Amino acid sequence: MLMNLHTHTRHSYDGENVSVADRVRAAKLLGLRVMAVTDHVEVNRFYAADHYNAVESEQFLYHFGKTFADSVDETSREQAQCEGLILLTGAELGQITSDVPLARQLYDDPRVDIILASVHEMHDMPDFYFLDYSRIDIAKLIRDYFEEALRTAALDCFDVFAHLTYGLRYMPGREQFDLSPYEPLIDDILRTLAINGKALELNGSGLRKKHPYTDPDFRFIRRFRELGGKYLTISTDAHESAFLGYRLDDLEDMARAAGFDALTYYRRHEPVMMPL
Ligand SMILES: [Zn+2]
Ligand SMILES: [Zn+2]
Repeated sequence: MLMNLHTHTRHSYDGENVSVADRVRAAKLLGLRVMAVTDHVEVNRFYAADHYNAVESEQFLYHFGKTFADSVDETSREQAQCEGLILLTGAELGQITSDVPLARQLYDDPRVDIILASVHEMHDMPDFYFLDYSRIDIAKLIRDYFEEALRTAALDCFDVFAHLTYGLRYMPGREQFDLSPYEPLIDDILRTLAINGKALELNGSGLRKKHPYTDPDFRFIRRFRELGGKYLTISTDAHESAFLGYRLDDLEDMARAAGFDALTYYRRHEPVMMPL
């Protein structure tokens, strides 16, 4: 197994209570060659709730600056003594457009190898995870999601665009949802990533579901390649060690079938190719 470049530890509010050292042991047992620790850092709630005159709740957690500090600290310490596995220090930055200078500062932290860019929520709404899709104008929501993804894709303070199509992840009946009206917009996102030399992530966390899927679907991985995309990463988005290696071999096969002959990881934001 080549890589898993999107994983969460005890530093993520929704991660299993596992230290980076324990996760490294699990990765070595699996025979992973490269692993990135990318705990959640929601840029729009980086500071404590008072900073925003807000009140913390289950749907709106704050102080992700602490997560960044703790996670990067522990992973970079572990990295210094890690043998037999390429361990990468990173973060999954959510809602980067809310504070681009802050995201830039995190990207420029000299300890950081890899930054994932994610859109987990729309302005003034909780994470897609919490939405009741039966009470929402879905067509508008999904358009808003891809428009925000396009604004994010154009920025230069990340390495990998994570789980494109996250806006669909928790939608009931996702497998029947017709994405064709959004294809021109998705093309714009993929083209922007390709032109700017950014990586797209093939995220396999949905492969565990009753109706399995990847974020994004295979056809968009292939389309990214057609549009000149060079850099692809794969991940399980594991929040638990049990899913650290889940179907990574299948994801590698998908990458090959989409026309990629290598995957990419990042050392201090420099792409390194791993032949497939
Ligand atoms: Zn995410
Ligand atoms: Zn994640």
